[in-house]
Amino acid sequence: MVFSSVHEVDPWNSCLNTPLQEEDKEIYDIIQKEKYRQFSGLELIASENFTSLAVMEANGSPLTNKYSEGLPGARYYGGNEYIDQVENLCRQRALQAFHLNPEEWGVNVQSYSGSTANFSALTALIHPHDRLMGLDLPSGGHLTHGWQTSKKKISTSSIYFESMPYQVNKETGIVDYDQLEKNASIFRPKLIICGGSAYVQDWDYARLRKIADQHGAYLLADIAHISGLVASSEANNPFELCDVVTTTTHKTLRGPRAGLIFFRRKRDDDLENRVNNAVFPSCQGGPHNNTIAAIAVCLKQVATPEFRQYAKQVRANAKALANALIERGYKLVTDGTANHMILWDLKPLKLTGSKVEKICDMVNITINKNSIHGDVNMVSPGGVRIGTPALTSRSFKEEDFLKVSEFLHRAVQIALRVQEKAGSKMMKDFVMACQDVEEISTLKNEVEIFATGFPMPGFDPSNITPTEA
Ligand SMILES: *Cc1c(COP(=O)(O)O)cnc(C)c1O
Repeated sequence: MVFSSVHEVDPWNSCLNTPLQEEDKEIYDIIQKEKYRQFSGLELIASENFTSLAVMEANGSPLTNKYSEGLPGARYYGGNEYIDQVENLCRQRALQAFHLNPEEWGVNVQSYSGSTANFSALTALIHPHDRLMGLDLPSGGHLTHGWQTSKKKISTSSIYFESMPYQVNKETGIVDYDQLEKNASIFRPKLIICGGSAYVQDWDYARLRKIADQHGAYLLADIAHISGLVASSEANNPFELCDVVTTTTHKTLRGPRAGLIFFRRKRDDDLENRVNNAVFPSCQGGPHNNTIAAIAVCLKQVATPEFRQYAKQVRANAKALANALIERGYKLVTDGTANHMILWDLKPLKLTGSKVEKICDMVNITINKNSIHGDVNMVSPGGVRIGTPALTSRSFKEEDFLKVSEFLHRAVQIALRVQEKAGSKMMKDFVMACQDVEEISTLKNEVEIFATGFPMPGFDPSNITPTEA
């Protein structure tokens, strides 16, 4: 159909159809630089991934214009016939992607992010000041699982609820379920949260269920990091035994930034309503419909055999990287990995995570410092966390991760030499001592040549030049 334009665009509206590159060169240029950074480096942050072109198209669509508070078929605004279709499709696909029977499980797809999904889940499950237990942050848990320090309650999950953490065994690095059981018998939690952000082994859901049942407590699995593995049956299945399962959609699931809350429909008469009401109106307002469409696109991809191959490769790559570092004599937490990430304990080298992160940053390798169980100094974590999901989306295989392990080895050896040269253990002396270290620029060049040899999901890097960037 051709629409003949009867009306002129008002001058004050003329900006509304100008492409970004013309409209806002500053932001456009920064985005170009960020694209080149993503393309030219080794992205090893365990919680990151590269989402697809189709997800980004949905995420950047005019669905962002629509208000649709409420649920499909029961909205507070008109004009939602297509938005309802999008959200219904998203819900269906979420259940399909995780092999769930719609009679037993429902899902809310409106959470803006993983943290808000968790706060909504807590709001639905327990009352203010009720007790919860989650994996301690220094043991690899997430902030939203009850984190507080002796000085300060940090997360709403500790501000509005009473939290007592459980931890990993100091020797093995594995969740100390026995101690959890003992402490639960004293603390009598209403909710046990499992799942973490820096935990490299799988979860014993049967053991957790048993402990939760001793106190009539809910069991919530936050599978934010491993949901892509769970959907692909590359990890234990939390849906068999948990009451509620939350996840982000942008980590191993490889979608847009958002959260999902799955609930067992028949756990209590009204758990379904409690979850839906907790999301809206208790914790959020209008859903981000562009994001919900993008989640739907991601979940369609997750349900394919190709995604399963991807998830298998993510784990194979993590295993290959772990073995290569162990062979070089380095120490990994639990001496390996069962999932998509490793935790590298740098304490035997007398190096901190911050220094290795710093050197890696200088040579286009992105990782993050991470506390290692038994760290005494919380400000200076004793290791780094390294994950394979993002580079596996760039078609890296085991042999490519051998090369990555060599780069990491060199970065750590440089860090050791720089630390010696710095003459102190202080970070500012370390940074000073990095200046004019030729090995750093040599390694950076090699990493850049290596990284730019791999495909880039979601955008074409060939039209960005490093100079333009
Ligand atoms: C990343 C993560 C979250 C939080 O997700 P955001 O989207 O950053 O709010 C929650 N729980 C776990 C276990 C995570 O790893």
